[in-house]
Amino acid sequence: MARIDRASTATDQRESGRQKVISTIRKSGQIARIDIAQKTGVSPATVTSITSELLKAGLIEEIAPDSKPDSRRGRPRVALKIRGDAHIVAGLKVANRNVMVALIDFEGNTVSEYTAALPASKLSPDDMAGFIETSVRAAAQEADMDVSQISGLGIGVAGIIDAPRGFVYWSPSMTERNVGLRDLVEARLPLPVFIDNDANLVAMAEQLFGMGKTVSDFIVVTIEHGVGMGIVIDNALYRGTRGCGAEFGHTKVHLDGALCRCGQRGCLEAYVADYALLREASITGSLSGQDPENATLDMLFRKAKSGDTTAQSIFHRAGRMFAMGLANIVNIFDPELIILSGERMQFDYLYADEVLEAMKAAVIQVDAPLPEVRIHKWGDLMWAKGAAAFAMDGVTDLAIRKITDAA
Ligand SMILES: [Zn+2]
Repeated sequence: MARIDRASTATDQRESGRQKVISTIRKSGQIARIDIAQKTGVSPATVTSITSELLKAGLIEEIAPDSKPDSRRGRPRVALKIRGDAHIVAGLKVANRNVMVALIDFEGNTVSEYTAALPASKLSPDDMAGFIETSVRAAAQEADMDVSQISGLGIGVAGIIDAPRGFVYWSPSMTERNVGLRDLVEARLPLPVFIDNDANLVAMAEQLFGMGKTVSDFIVVTIEHGVGMGIVIDNALYRGTRGCGAEFGHTKVHLDGALCRCGQRGCLEAYVADYALLREASITGSLSGQDPENATLDMLFRKAKSGDTTAQSIFHRAGRMFAMGLANIVNIFDPELIILSGERMQFDYLYADEVLEAMKAAVIQVDAPLPEVRIHKWGDLMWAKGAAAFAMDGVTDLAIRKITDAA
């Protein structure tokens, strides 16, 4: 038994060394071997042997030395980078009204983008898997590719997801609970499929391509049709044990409060999400004369801007609730950075200066600077790119496993 343990530990160490090296290369853009050793704590000899395996597998490539000479040896150093055409991966985001697909190369460059309108905002598991299949095939076709040229598919869905099992406990996008969505999609498409909560995937996109690139501990708060959160601790996504962690939108801010989409009362989301604001507007008659089906947040926002005090109070209250939620995050995690991210960011109301001031007032007061709050307005495709980042991670793991198995 002890012998087997030792053997598998050595293999695990080797595999985790490969993962460390490739993720360091990815984070750095381009980097010399000696600097990889310094950053990872892996010995220079092991870095040399790992990078030669990664080169052989076609995952990385050497680039011509720049003019900066190595001070000790007096000759330019060869740098390594991710090989962009090693793999193409797809990321797909199931949004409230549509599905977005992004194809990216192995370096994270966007190859093509595709959007399709969902036939309904809630689908049965089979219809959802079918729509995902059709969308990925259409995205590939538009990029003049066959779907078999894609190495993996990442899917971001709102709701409670067990990512390692590809299992959806609950999603506002599906008519049923407890769906093995990954297996349903894998039965339809010839690629490995990876599924996670959409906000986690935005955190992953921030980590790989965005503002989280140089920060090891940060929190992303996403604002879309609902409110989500992704937690990165020590460079890794924190998911909780059942996939139910980081449900910022369903933290309670009011006893017996407003009804939430999850079926419970008093959730933050029931006060700050777009549907919550529109519900409030319909109660106060702020959008009277509008067909409630077609009333939009944009209309309410224009009304507030034009001086309507009832409309203004709706945004004001949502902002104060949001500030309270942000202060709770700071009081629990004390992160280095909070990134506010998402489609709804265009509506100003949740990241106005007064919201951030209200947050600061509710944070435990000490003589040290507060966490930095940064606003990142990505387009819709950020979500799909986040899903693609997740697929890229999965495809990288599979490629490394292949090297380990062959060794
Ligand atoms: Zn809720």
